[in-house]
Amino acid sequence: MSEVMNVAEIFGKNVFNETVMRERLPKSVFKKMKKTIEDGAELDPSIADVVAHAMKDWAIERGATHYTHWFQPLTGVTAEKHDSFISAPDAEGKVIMEFSGKELIKGEPDASSFPSGGLRATFEARGYTAWDCTSPAFLREDACGVTLCIPTAFCSYTGEALDQKTPLLRSMQAIDEQSLRILRLFGNTTAKRVCPSVGPEQEYFIVDRQKYLQRKDLIYTGRTLFGAMPPKGQELDDHYFGAIRERIGAYMKAVNEELWKLGVTAKTQHNEVAPAQHELAPIYDQANLAVDHNQMVMETLKKVAGRQGLTCLLHEKPFAGVNGSGKHNNWSLTSDDGVNLLNPGDTPHENIQFLLVLACILKAVDTHADLLRESAADIGNDHRLGANEAPPAIISVFLGEQLEDVIDQLCSTGEATHSKSGGTLKTGVATLPDLDKDATDRNRTSPFAFTGNKFEFRMVGSSDSIAPANVVLNTIVAEAFKEAADELEKADDFDTAVHDMIKKLFRDHKRIIFNGNGYSDAWVEEAGRRGLPNIRSMVEAIPALTTDKAVKLYESFGVFTKAELESRAEVEYEAYGKMINIEARTMIDMAGKQIIPAVIKYTTQLAGSLGAVKAACPEADTSVQAELLTETSALLSDMKVALAALIDITEEAAGVEGAETQAHVYHEKVVPAMAALRAPADKLEMIVDKDLWPFPSYGDLMFEV
Ligand code: ADP
Ligand code: MG
Repeated sequence: MSEVMNVAEIFGKNVFNETVMRERLPKSVFKKMKKTIEDGAELDPSIADVVAHAMKDWAIERGATHYTHWFQPLTGVTAEKHDSFISAPDAEGKVIMEFSGKELIKGEPDASSFPSGGLRATFEARGYTAWDCTSPAFLREDACGVTLCIPTAFCSYTGEALDQKTPLLRSMQAIDEQSLRILRLFGNTTAKRVCPSVGPEQEYFIVDRQKYLQRKDLIYTGRTLFGAMPPKGQELDDHYFGAIRERIGAYMKAVNEELWKLGVTAKTQHNEVAPAQHELAPIYDQANLAVDHNQMVMETLKKVAGRQGLTCLLHEKPFAGVNGSGKHNNWSLTSDDGVNLLNPGDTPHENIQFLLVLACILKAVDTHADLLRESAADIGNDHRLGANEAPPAIISVFLGEQLEDVIDQLCSTGEATHSKSGGTLKTGVATLPDLDKDATDRNRTSPFAFTGNKFEFRMVGSSDSIAPANVVLNTIVAEAFKEAADELEKADDFDTAVHDMIKKLFRDHKRIIFNGNGYSDAWVEEAGRRGLPNIRSMVEAIPALTTDKAVKLYESFGVFTKAELESRAEVEYEAYGKMINIEARTMIDMAGKQIIPAVIKYTTQLAGSLGAVKAACPEADTSVQAELLTETSALLSDMKVALAALIDITEEAAGVEGAETQAHVYHEKVVPAMAALRAPADKLEMIVDKDLWPFPSYGDLMFEV
């Protein structure tokens, strides 16, 4: 029997959470701290020293030697700079362990090594990190020892956001204010805060580390750049929810243990559609915690894999032709007095409120589909969105049969008088029908699906931060709420006004609803007729960030300034060009130094055997060897031509000035040249003797974990 894990005992063990604070802080300080967290306010400097002191003692008792401000720059991963607690030695050469309130609240990492998309030039080189005290400090155990991590936001000295978290916190403030206005209109006087709740489902692949280390493409780019499909793929569907293999089981157990210690509520785990693919989902939490926790989940998945001789691939498309990985971002709005605004509810009042919220969300998603699409744009996701795989690049909303029926009635006749089947949900307004409470069946092909009491945004890439998607959701819905509240607060007859508004919103934005098969070609055509944008790639998605519409939206809620938006677009173009350049150069290296030499060896052996057979027995039929030799030589020459072309075009792209122009050259010229090199190489892999092939195959990677 293995050791028994006591979950209750380890859960949150490495978190400086409310329980720890209650134990360790003087009562008055604890009260202030708790209020700061609840209000999402800044930490009162007068208590900072006391909090820092308690935090330091707690951390040191648990073996911590260093602390770090943990933040999320625009690289998509987290960053940190470690400082030890020790002070300068005193006269007797003794050191003490120090950590002041100032060090807790504010850090000054060198901003110049993080992408800023021109903001640095315009403003200042320095940046600072500030504690987001709604996200608790935690201890991380790894090869560096134990480190106290303080979750922070990262800004320039003039206040421009250089990270994912700052705009997220700003957007949470926007949705909080506007949601409260909606609740007040419906008579709620008790709620003080409305917070977006987020639960991200994380997909990933696990491969054997020794095999991983034999592939430069996996090492440098996180995905395979060459690789023929194995004889068995995912067609049998035998892996999905299948029994979890022993090695993976041990891995998941270790991951859960680490995450639970960090207070991350890792809840479900199962195999995914593709072989070697798995999923982990936590219980939902308030948006900024969910974003932090998702980063911890990704870090932990990688770290624990390394310890167990495995490698976790978070790339959106590690294997061509095999299902890729994404992240389902489940999103809803919850008030501090326990109302989920996306829950249809039990009273007539709540039902109308729900329909208004729903109508506002439809308007938001329809109006800003381009921004939502952009929030899921990353380099790896270009292989999923709009390619032969889920989800489509077109934003649409799935509501389920019953809600759509209600909306249809409202739109066509101006009133809805009946509802399809089921348990009822009273609306109290004669022209609105009763709704079936659980009318949301599943539609796995929709990018934005209503699933009972939340929306599930399914476009985000598996390696990406979920912050941008939630910034967009919070802000666009805040805008729709604001416009509704502005009008309704002035209305003389609220009931009639809200009823008319719901009808109008549904009518105006009905085109965004689609309940059918989102993967079909027919939908692409239909969406075109409806005028819905179909943005097929990252470089085509980025301009959405800086349209007049986007600038107006973000500036009016103080989420981004125009300069911040421009800087983000610039960072994304740069990141795209850099990554494709690495991919192209890795291909050039593998093709020239590994594949072509292996194929030459094979053809030499083949020619040798052909000659030997002919010499020994002139009458023997050597047509098979001869045909193989001809075919292999032809593919080899195709490869050589494609390699030369890729070398030229990559060099040309690297010399192009301007991040945007350059990103387009990489996308429109280098990416097709990479595909042209891959095609003959993958055919050769099917022909050449396995012993000669220079690295592990798809089959080796996916079926032998
Ligand atoms: P699925 O069937 O899509 O896997 P689950 O019920 O397992 O759905 O939930 C998936 C994720 O959605 C989990 O992280 C869960 O905590 C989260 N979730 C559930 N309810 C809500 C909600 N009201 N708001 C946000 N996220 C939620
Ligand atoms: Mg789901």
